Amino acid sequence: MIIQMKKDATKEDVVKLQEFLKEKGFGIKDASSDEVTVFGVLGDVKTLDQDQLSVFPGVANVARISSPYKLASKAFKQNPTTVTLKNGVTIGADEFIVMAGPCSVESEEQLRIIATQVKESGAKILRGGVFKPRTSPYAFQGLGIEGLKLMRKIADELGLAIVTELMGTEHLEEFVKYVDIIQIGARNMQNFDLLKAVGKTNVPVLLKRGLSSTIEEWLMSAEYILANGNDQVILCERGIRTFEKYTRNTLDISAVLAIKELSHLPVIIDPSHAAGRWEMIESLSLASLAVGADGLIVEVHHQPELALSDGAQSLKPKKFDHMMKRLEELSTVMDKKVKR
Ligand code: PEP
Ligand code: MN
Repeated sequence: MIIQMKKDATKEDVVKLQEFLKEKGFGIKDASSDEVTVFGVLGDVKTLDQDQLSVFPGVANVARISSPYKLASKAFKQNPTTVTLKNGVTIGADEFIVMAGPCSVESEEQLRIIATQVKESGAKILRGGVFKPRTSPYAFQGLGIEGLKLMRKIADELGLAIVTELMGTEHLEEFVKYVDIIQIGARNMQNFDLLKAVGKTNVPVLLKRGLSSTIEEWLMSAEYILANGNDQVILCERGIRTFEKYTRNTLDISAVLAIKELSHLPVIIDPSHAAGRWEMIESLSLASLAVGADGLIVEVHHQPELALSDGAQSLKPKKFDHMMKRLEELSTVMDKKVKR
């Protein structure tokens, strides 16, 4: 439920109404802007009498949110959410932000080569997996915490932020210490304990869409993070399972438009895991900018043929640079700009 106050409502009006609701056991989540005082009422609001609340002094409007997600909805918050990282990079504002790096962190040398090149081409955030969700238990599982420390060290040298996947709560403390954005992978989108745990931190979260999840399920997962107190959530469309086998997954590009309609949260695209083929990455990235996404997360490897994971979908640094140039050109006629 959303309550909007009149322009001339006093502070006392707001406090009186909120105290009334708190005494009944409801939570309050403020969503006010400079122009308007508005807050959400959290809990089983079916038991609340809308007409009774409307007659409290200073109340302009009482509205029920019909979607199952509340805090993630546009009804709750009209202004787009922006996520600003410690290095000053903002996702969800007027800049199209590109995150890039290897699928997996493999060694210090590998990471430094790739990070240096993607930074030069205009990436603002270094991606890299250190705990890898592999389909086979015999495949490379990642360097773990050592890999995480390597990422931090190299990113600091270059002035980049880092995003990496957290697979379980046992490493949360180290992630809070070292990471700028915690990635929740597609396979964990509905790991509700993990969502609650990252929701209790104040570290921004990149929430990837599940392999076969609907947009509503995806937003419900975002709701778990928001409801636990963390409002720094970035959504990531990374392709979904369909009957089509030519590509690894099917990029649901219209999901960006749906999210922009339904939610205030920023949304980026991962063309690498969607397509599974490097030849398609540049075109899908241009399409992502054109459709109104807030950014990209792209896999880059200097020796894709030797990569320990996802070489087939990794761009070589030169191709990545070409893609960034074309994105910059396209962005001159789009609302979001690519700044290299
Ligand atoms: C990844 O980004 O490395 C990854 C494993 O992605 P996803 O969870 O989308 O499969
Ligand atoms: Mn990968």
